[in-house]
Amino acid sequence: LSSGNSSNDLASLFECPVCFDYALPPIMQCQSGHIVCSHCRPKLQFCPTCRGALGNIRNLAMEKVASQVLFPCRYMSNGCEASLPHTDKANHEDGCEFRPYNCPCPGASCKWQGSLEQVMPHLLQQHKSITTLQGEDIVFLATDINLPGAVDWVMMQTCFGHHFMLVLEKQEKSEGNQLFYTIVQLIGTRKQAESFAYRLELNGQKRRLTWEATPRSIHDGVQSAINSSDCLVFDTNVARLFADNGNLSINVTINTC
Ligand SMILES: [Zn+2]
Ligand SMILES: [Zn+2]
Ligand SMILES: [Zn+2]
Ligand SMILES: [Zn+2]
Repeated sequence: LSSGNSSNDLASLFECPVCFDYALPPIMQCQSGHIVCSHCRPKLQFCPTCRGALGNIRNLAMEKVASQVLFPCRYMSNGCEASLPHTDKANHEDGCEFRPYNCPCPGASCKWQGSLEQVMPHLLQQHKSITTLQGEDIVFLATDINLPGAVDWVMMQTCFGHHFMLVLEKQEKSEGNQLFYTIVQLIGTRKQAESFAYRLELNGQKRRLTWEATPRSIHDGVQSAINSSDCLVFDTNVARLFADNGNLSINVTINTC
């Protein structure tokens, strides 16, 4: 079962007839034995193959076979050659360099996806309002940080022949308590991001707040930076200490390393 070709042939037996993705454990079957994947199963009343009743029957034999088969990465058609045990598949695909890029703008409003090369043209065409500053040392000015609710401030910084997207995101945590996340993302791969370092600095009356880190790749997205707190995080009180008339200036310095 382990050789590449026969494994791929076996993997095709796990294809869901509805979405053509693989039906992976727990594998459910209809009363006649046709399988359907666990994403499609809840949306179906009848077996898509024989129109028979679906019921709640697991196919333990197929599950055992599944644990012996290597499944191709879902981005195979984009060029990925990896084949993996089903238990490693989701994790690999999450970080797979062949996964399409989502629009790097924060918020879920733009559903665009494409290759890395298409990201900048997309931003220039569809997000014209984003300001771009040239240079490795710039000021990211967020105006009206006291605006109620969840708000994003976005700008672009261009230096060392690369484009970086700077995001300040405000989230409401509870009544009057907000958290601010400042994220620097490279319009590039994770590997490219590793050759840069950035520093964020807030300056106030006899106070200074500094954060230094490696930029994130836009492949990972703003939300993953926020979830792992891999960004400059501060609360409303800190924001007030550094704000001037409700505006916050964040010094951004990017270096190569
Ligand atoms: Zn399916
Ligand atoms: Zn059936
Ligand atoms: Zn892959
Ligand atoms: Zn977009």
